[in-house]
Amino acid sequence: MVGMRVGIGHDTHRLAPGGPLRLGGIDIPHDKGSVGHSDADVLMHAVVDAILGAAALGDVGQMFPDTDPTNRGRDSAEMLCAARDAVAAVGWRIVNLDCIVFAQRPKLLPHRQVIRKRLADLLDIDPDRVSLKGKTGEHVGPIGQEKAIAAECVALLESK
Ligand SMILES: [Zn+2]
Repeated sequence: MVGMRVGIGHDTHRLAPGGPLRLGGIDIPHDKGSVGHSDADVLMHAVVDAILGAAALGDVGQMFPDTDPTNRGRDSAEMLCAARDAVAAVGWRIVNLDCIVFAQRPKLLPHRQVIRKRLADLLDIDPDRVSLKGKTGEHVGPIGQEKAIAAECVALLESK
């Protein structure tokens, strides 16, 4: 019997004037960017937490504490690769990801395929295994008023 594990990740970052917006490992031209200790890539952080969560290996904040000055401005792609290697080291392989980005603007659609490919390349899986959806905040709440951006991810792992 093949072992399977599911994990969930969620992240929120504040938005501030001045782009670009780093999302899913790419820089999207935009008039706002997300604020954080690292590169503040909200989607990447949700994916890392989902993968680590599925293997019960903690979370991104444990692996890369924001109290550590070496993590300032860190490329979240490095965090994703570290999470990939950590779950592989304990015998898990990534089956698929299903992700949602919550942002009033910019539109995700024009960037969707590039982000899917970027995440898939970093995880060494086929882009068909990376689903990405966008939701607006319907102009209400911190998402809808463009004060924040959030992301969620569900990841499935199988034993190698
Ligand atoms: Zn984050």
